[in-house]
Amino acid sequence: MSEIIKSKIRDIPDFPREGIVFKDITNVLKDADAFKHAIDLLAKHFEKQHIDYIAGIEARGFIFGSALAYKMGKGFIPIRKPGKLPHKTEKITYDLEYGKDSLEIHLDAVEPGKKVLIVDDLLATGGTIDAAVKLVKKIGGEVMGVAFVVELEFLNGRKRLPEDCNITKLITF
Ligand code: AMP
Repeated sequence: MSEIIKSKIRDIPDFPREGIVFKDITNVLKDADAFKHAIDLLAKHFEKQHIDYIAGIEARGFIFGSALAYKMGKGFIPIRKPGKLPHKTEKITYDLEYGKDSLEIHLDAVEPGKKVLIVDDLLATGGTIDAAVKLVKKIGGEVMGVAFVVELEFLNGRKRLPEDCNITKLITF
């Protein structure tokens, strides 16, 4: 069922650094059927769950997350790279393979106890989504699940997430 999506993802060797095989999802976005299929599958998966907001991680998580929010009739919350959000923010810094990175969310983005689904394009080592989950919890949100178009299973990223974290992905490499 997700074959149309998988067929549109191409490998770019040595991007952005030597040794990384980058999964390029731009042709999923370009193909109307593949893009629609991806959003429809995610929406179907979560239709029976109580979700108040969809949060997307900059930048490709914005594309899938906002389309999903529109489809599901939910509000969208951006989780951004540092220095981009204009109001008061909560920040988290996390370890990358080489060095560190940070993410921010508006302090008042989620009212206490509201239920949030976090979306990104791809789960690799899990550092980014783990940080995003912590960030949403820090400002009082309840994380109902995390959703990806792609999971790079061999990197075991899901191991970094809490045991009770509800993880959804459309395709696996
Ligand atoms: P990670 O924190 O290692 O799970 O990395 C996840 C973030 O980095 C996601 O936002 C992805 O867009 C991006 N990313 C990491 N590895 C890849 C890859 N091989 N191909 C495409 N995007 C990647």
